[in-house]
Amino acid sequence: MLVVACIKQVPDTTQVKIDPVTGTLIREGVPFIMNPFDTHALEEALRLKDKYGFRVAAITMGPPNSTLTLRKALSLGADEVVLLSDRAFGGADTLATSRVLAEAVKKLGEKEEVVMVICGKQTIDGDTAQVGPGIATRLRYPQLTLVDQIKSVDVNTKKMIARRKLEGHHEIVEVKLPVVITVVREINKPRYPTVPMRLSSEDMPVTTWDNKTMHLDETTIGLKGSPTRVNRIFSPERVKGEIIGDGLKNPEEAAALLANKLVERDIIHL
Ligand SMILES: Cc1cc2nc3c(=O)[nH]c(=O)nc-3n(C[C@H](O)[C@H](O)[C@H](O)COP(=O)(O)OP(=O)(O)OC[C@H]3O[C@@H](n4cnc5c(N)ncnc54)[C@H](O)[C@@H]3O)c2cc1C
Repeated sequence: MLVVACIKQVPDTTQVKIDPVTGTLIREGVPFIMNPFDTHALEEALRLKDKYGFRVAAITMGPPNSTLTLRKALSLGADEVVLLSDRAFGGADTLATSRVLAEAVKKLGEKEEVVMVICGKQTIDGDTAQVGPGIATRLRYPQLTLVDQIKSVDVNTKKMIARRKLEGHHEIVEVKLPVVITVVREINKPRYPTVPMRLSSEDMPVTTWDNKTMHLDETTIGLKGSPTRVNRIFSPERVKGEIIGDGLKNPEEAAALLANKLVERDIIHL
């Protein structure tokens, strides 16, 4: 039985700059990291392996240098890794990304029963939190987002009980397997690779699937398959000379001042 962890390689956004001309992220020379939420997704998959003996596959859709992040997954204990890489996959929005990932899960499921797909809550670059639910929809699997605890997995009854972290409260849910879940940071503390594992992962195979292998209709993937276009990325301009009201001494006046400013700028309507 297989647990699939979807991990994305992202630029270390603490160092990313935006190209003022093209309005796109400058990726050259920027270090890449495993998307932080995905380190928890992978860790949870490895804990299910430790507890229930499942095998773990880590998959990523990205450029060839995403092998870096897949080797990290191998050094942490993933049994196999798949790089989904093809120019035809490039420029994908969340709809096109979830299509390729869902098809990859189906393909892995042809040789081994998939019990769970684990995604991070969201990435630190696109930040949409749409891919996990998109994969579930395409696979027609039930989905649980914002999971912060897996309480039990019963492979005989094909059921799982998990806890979701909602605003101000938790929700305990029972769901049929296979399932797609997205996890939050609180679910676990990711392990570190051991030196022997790190060394042996350097020689372990990385399977690469391009579109010749996946045979996906090109109008449903990449830029062609993406109804959403990111036209421009920019940092909001900081407006100087703000009026500061002393909220502590005279809250009513400060509140009135703020409300007037917001009305003036058509931000709120009273
Ligand atoms: C600044 C910026 C803004 C964007 N805005 C939009 C937008 O509004 N709408 C839109 O459709 N696209 C948008 N995109 C494109 C979007 O980033 C890509 O489609 C991306 O591949 C998936 O979306 P995401 O990064 O938001 O992922 P999310 O939905 O936030 O990711 C959730 C989880 O899905 C899994 N996952 C996501 N991508 C991959 C991958 N490539 N490989 C493996 N697992 C993955 C991971 O487990 C991840 O934690 C944007 C990109 C950028 C850089």
